[in-house]
Amino acid sequence: MLRIYSWLSWHIWRNCYSSYITSLSKVASLTRTPVGRTRICAPRAIRARTNFSLALCLFLPFSLQTCSKSSSAPNENTRAQSSPQTSPTASLSIAADASSIAFDGERAFAHVKKMVDIGPRVAGSKELERTRKYIISELRSYGLQVSTDEFRIKTPVGERRMVNITAELPGETSDVIMLASHYDTKLYKEFGFVGANDGGSSTGALLEMARVLTASKQRPRFTRWFVFFDGEEALCKNWDDCGTPTAPDNTYGSRRFVAQLVDRNELKRLRAMILLDMIGYKKLELGRDPMSTRWLVDIIWQTAREMKYEAYFVDREEGVGGDDHEPFLRAGVDAVDLIQLNTYPHWHTAEDTLDKISPRSLQIVGEVVLASLPRIEGRLLSRRAGA
Ligand SMILES: [Zn+2]
Repeated sequence: MLRIYSWLSWHIWRNCYSSYITSLSKVASLTRTPVGRTRICAPRAIRARTNFSLALCLFLPFSLQTCSKSSSAPNENTRAQSSPQTSPTASLSIAADASSIAFDGERAFAHVKKMVDIGPRVAGSKELERTRKYIISELRSYGLQVSTDEFRIKTPVGERRMVNITAELPGETSDVIMLASHYDTKLYKEFGFVGANDGGSSTGALLEMARVLTASKQRPRFTRWFVFFDGEEALCKNWDDCGTPTAPDNTYGSRRFVAQLVDRNELKRLRAMILLDMIGYKKLELGRDPMSTRWLVDIIWQTAREMKYEAYFVDREEGVGGDDHEPFLRAGVDAVDLIQLNTYPHWHTAEDTLDKISPRSLQIVGEVVLASLPRIEGRLLSRRAGA
C-alpha cells in the first residue's frame, strides 16, 4: 500500500509539473535582462492561474506522501519541487534554459556593423547584393529555409532589380506571424549614407530574432516568416516627391510581397505583421504609430511595461506617415510598426552611423518583441476560437 501511495504521488506530481511547465512555456517567452539573467514574462492572469494549479499539484501528492515516507523521487523532481511555489521564475529558468537561447544585442549589433562596413546599400547596387548574400548565409546557418523573390521595377531613376528575402520557420499550423525589416538604404549622391539605424538596426535585430526563435526546441504554434524587404526607401529625395497613388516611389518590396500573397491566394495565412524600422538609437524611445493595428501596439507596449521598459516604449504618438506595414494594412492584415522617427535627429543624414546605435537598444527591442510573440499568438488563437 505504501508503494502504491508512493508511486501515485510521484506520478501526480510529475504530470502536474510537466503540464505547468508546458502551459507556461506556451504563453511565455524566454528573455534576457540587461544583466544577462534569464526570465519569463507571462501575462499576470495566466501566471496566477498556473501558480494556483501548481499549488494544487504540490498539495495533492504531499497529502499522499504523509502515508509514504519510504518514497524517493528522482533528483530533478526534488529540485523542481523545492522552488516553484516561492520562486516560479527561478524554476522556469531551469526549464527554459535547457531548450532556448536568449536574444543577444551584441550579436545584433555585429550584424549592423557588417552592413555599415559594406557601405551605402541602395536598391539595385552591388553593395546591396553583398548585404543580401550575408543575410541569406546567416539565415541558412541557423537552419532556416530561405527563398528570394527577384523582380525588376520601374523607378523615377530607371528600372531597378530588387530582391525580397524570406526565411520560414514552420509552426504547427500554416497560419503565419511575420517579422520584417527593410535592408536597403536611401540613395544619396551628396554623401555616403550608410543607414546604421535606418535599415541596419532593424535588419541586425531581425537576424538575431531569427536565430533565437529557430534555436528554440519548442515548435511554434504559428509559422514564422522573417522577411527582409528591398526598396523601402524612396529613390527621389522625399517619400512622396515622385510617386503617384498607383505607383508610389517607396515600399517597392513590401507592395510586391503583398501582391504575391494575393496572387498565390495566401493572404489569409498571414495573421499578423511586426515591422521593425530604426530601433537601435542609443537614446531609444519608441512611440505608438497611430496607423498600426491597435491591439498589436497594446500587447507590445504592455509587454514592455511589464519588463520595466516603459521608458523606451513610451505612450506618445509616433506619426510615421508610411512604411512597409502600410501595404499590409491596406490588404486587411493586422500590422504594427516599431519605429523611432521623430526623436531620431540623424534620420536621413550623413550622421546615421554606427556610433548612434547601441547593442542595449537592440537588446531591449529584441526582448520585447520575442516576449510579445506568444501573447500575440494567444490573442489570435482566442479570436479564432470565438469566431
Ligand atoms: Zn529611411
